[in-house]
Amino acid sequence: MEMPPPDTMVLSAKARIVAALHGLLPADAVISDEAETRAYECDALTAYRCPPLAVVLPRTTAEVASVLRLCHAEGVPVVPRGSGTSLAGGALPTADCVVLGVARMNAVLETDYDNRFVRVQTGRTNLSVTGAVEADGFFYAPDPSSQLACAIAGNIAMNSGGAHCLKYGVTTNNLLGVTLVQMDGTVVEIGGPYMDAGGLDLLGVICGSEGQLGVVTEATLRILPKPEGARPVLVGFDSNEVAGECVSDIIKAGVLPVAIEFMDRPCIEATEAFAKAGYPMCEALLIIEVEGSPAEIDEQLALIKTIALRHNPVEFREAADEDQAKRIWLGRKSAFGAMGQINDYMCLDGTIPVSSLPYVLRRIGEMSKEIGLDVANVFHAGDGNMHPLILFDANKPGDLERCEALGADILRLCVEVGGCLTGEHGVGIEKRDLMSVQFAPDDLEAQLKVKDVFDPRWLLNPAKVFPLDATASRRAA
Ligand SMILES: Cc1cc2nc3c(=O)[nH]c(=O)nc-3n(C[C@H](O)[C@H](O)[C@H](O)COP(=O)(O)OP(=O)(O)OC[C@H]3O[C@@H](n4cnc5c(N)ncnc54)[C@H](O)[C@@H]3O)c2cc1C
Repeated sequence: MEMPPPDTMVLSAKARIVAALHGLLPADAVISDEAETRAYECDALTAYRCPPLAVVLPRTTAEVASVLRLCHAEGVPVVPRGSGTSLAGGALPTADCVVLGVARMNAVLETDYDNRFVRVQTGRTNLSVTGAVEADGFFYAPDPSSQLACAIAGNIAMNSGGAHCLKYGVTTNNLLGVTLVQMDGTVVEIGGPYMDAGGLDLLGVICGSEGQLGVVTEATLRILPKPEGARPVLVGFDSNEVAGECVSDIIKAGVLPVAIEFMDRPCIEATEAFAKAGYPMCEALLIIEVEGSPAEIDEQLALIKTIALRHNPVEFREAADEDQAKRIWLGRKSAFGAMGQINDYMCLDGTIPVSSLPYVLRRIGEMSKEIGLDVANVFHAGDGNMHPLILFDANKPGDLERCEALGADILRLCVEVGGCLTGEHGVGIEKRDLMSVQFAPDDLEAQLKVKDVFDPRWLLNPAKVFPLDATASRRAA
């Protein structure tokens, strides 16, 4: 029998899937035109790109379930997507996949101030969750720097954090329940509106599972009353290591600021030029914020000042008013964007014990010199969550490869000092092949078995998180 050429086969398979998707969703919710699918070919890890077979933008849990049922029956991989701001390639498509974007699922479904929770569809952006409750004196605590754009869906998948997570914890500490659609279309409720729902802690399994176990369509989030007041302080140092020692001493003293953020000179210079935040020019800058009543703020800042002065800072400056406080945070939250304006960069995300900060910062400096690529640092220092930004030239042959090699070495260093490969950005494709640096084969196997249970055909978010060699037999099955 004469066979059609391979391209025709691929095309006809695509046409069949697209036609079936159109049967399930309104016309504007299916994108299959190649030019339009290119808008979904990557996330914020833009070095890797691949347009998907099709994109769907459902509006309800029932629509998500119908798409997953179809893809399950047809053996089509599905890549869940929120806003596409992942820095780890978590939402990178494969050529044969359907990208399932939840961006249109952005409604607030329920608000309960007495019990302090809000229930939302997960396409809602992080900042607009606070936006929905702040007039009534509440806020949603996890605050990734990307919070204007990133969705609760991605926050849950990556267990995202932010500057203020030192005090309030990351997403998992503020998530009460989810509606999860499994790959076969089954809809399950996990957790609920109150703390510690009964049964196994499946919420802990789902949060941080990077789209491997199901598509999260609704989430119940804890909201908190806004603090009476808050004040950031800028503390400048003439070396990275000394700033690191100061952070370690503050944490050791048992003071709990809401945030301790770190920036080194390259980041300070880029951010100042971009955001005019009023930062002092020094080698390393800490932004430390405390909150509470005016008396509590004064008491905590006095203690922090005593500790900081032991390290001979070149600057110790409290925000004089609300306007200055806002500018300080605007600067910090634009730091990645500011660096991006002047350089290509790869943003790493590893976590280390806070006491190792001075050593790790010194080693990163040495490693950067050895390989000949500059590294800028801006990160959540209070919880040891490092974000070295490796600067490179994407147009220079070999630079990306050297950048990847340095990134891998820095992440190995994080594991070596007792930390881990990721603090908040997730594993995605970026750190997939380093997972065996952190996990022994049996530890990894335990995680693979969880995936087997939720997604036995391994169709969800393929080729991410788990090293390819450890999963080859499962993916082939
Ligand atoms: C400038 C900048 C600053 C950043 N700052 C921070 C920061 O301070 N802290 C921080 O933690 N991160 C930060 N990030 C990283 C990123 O914003 C977070 O990882 C964010 O949570 C991703 O959300 P998203 O909606 O864009 O998800 P996407 O990028 O769309 O997807 C991320 C992952 O979630 C999965 N996923 C998406 N939707 C679903 C769903 N409905 N169900 C199941 N899985 C799903 C995807 O498959 C993918 O694996 C930053 C990124 C940028 C670009």
